[in-house]
Amino acid sequence: MSIAERLARPEILALEPYAHPAFDPTLERLDANESPWRPAGDRSDTGLNRYPETAGTQIEAVLAALYGVPATQVLAGRGSDEGIDLLTRAFLRPYRDSLLQCPPTFGMYALACRLQGATLIDVPLDRTQGFALRPADIRTAFASTTRLIFLCSPNNPTGNRIPLSLIADLCREVAEQALVVVDEAYAEFTEDPGALTLLGEHANLVVLRTLSKAYGLAGARCGAVIAAADVIAVLRRIRPPYFITTGTSEAVMRALSPAGIAEARARIQTLCTERKRLAAALETLALIRHVFPSTANFLLVECTEATEVLARARRAGFLLRDFSRQPHTRGCVRISIGSEDQNDRLLSGLATP
Ligand SMILES: *Cc1c(COP(=O)(O)O)cnc(C)c1O
Repeated sequence: MSIAERLARPEILALEPYAHPAFDPTLERLDANESPWRPAGDRSDTGLNRYPETAGTQIEAVLAALYGVPATQVLAGRGSDEGIDLLTRAFLRPYRDSLLQCPPTFGMYALACRLQGATLIDVPLDRTQGFALRPADIRTAFASTTRLIFLCSPNNPTGNRIPLSLIADLCREVAEQALVVVDEAYAEFTEDPGALTLLGEHANLVVLRTLSKAYGLAGARCGAVIAAADVIAVLRRIRPPYFITTGTSEAVMRALSPAGIAEARARIQTLCTERKRLAAALETLALIRHVFPSTANFLLVECTEATEVLARARRAGFLLRDFSRQPHTRGCVRISIGSEDQNDRLLSGLATP
């Protein structure tokens, strides 16, 4: 039995997945109760009056090429948020199983876990060591009910990476009992090889990637779950039909053309250069006590007075993310790296009492 079949909820393995009506582009369609006419303002290639029959499979082929894996190992969805949701639904039995996460981290893991009625196990990162992962604490907290371990690397909101060797060790240690999900929403902003390079060696490793950040497609909602084919096959059983919209599909195809990818790479480069400049400039401000090193497109800063930092930013016309009252990030604010011009204006605003 594969690891996915062993860990998936039995009722999900037993259910009959929804079957689409067969699609034949050579025939006119009177089989899906669609409108024969396009709606007003429809500029799509294929027509918004039609169900997006092939959008998902096209997207999965494109994402597979982008991430260098076979299409059987990719599940596309409405952002990586949908991947998080599907993983919890497929692998956590309500009132029995648990999800382990390392706060401060992305809020969707805890939310999806609670929505599923599963138990959340928190193993905090070590703030005194730059929010480093504590593998010994994970080992201690890991329970016989734990089916999913969520790691975020680079981590949101702290910006640091988890060493691949720690991820590999963890995958090995829980190989028979749990999936290790590595959320790499910000992988493009670091030069280190990501967890995709470990996929071949670990059947229980799951990687989340997204087009929302580095590819500028947050509004399109498109992300990917990448894992062994049998894990993906379980998730395919429970995802909704027509999981990618026509608009998203066409936007992604354009953005991931060779020219689109080249443009995204150049912008990533700019953001990384700006990250360095912004971090150095923030360090010199009296209101900022510490800038945590970041491998993502944001900086977490520890403030002497977070409310004053937020107020000055607002006066300069900017919204920053306030983490200052949350237990693991007291006094901290998260700043997304903007364009050169935005960063200049933010810096002068923060320096102005
Ligand atoms: C932004 C973010 C996501 C969400 O990505 P979508 O693909 O837009 O759903 C996932 N994980 C982390 C850590 C993020 O910061």
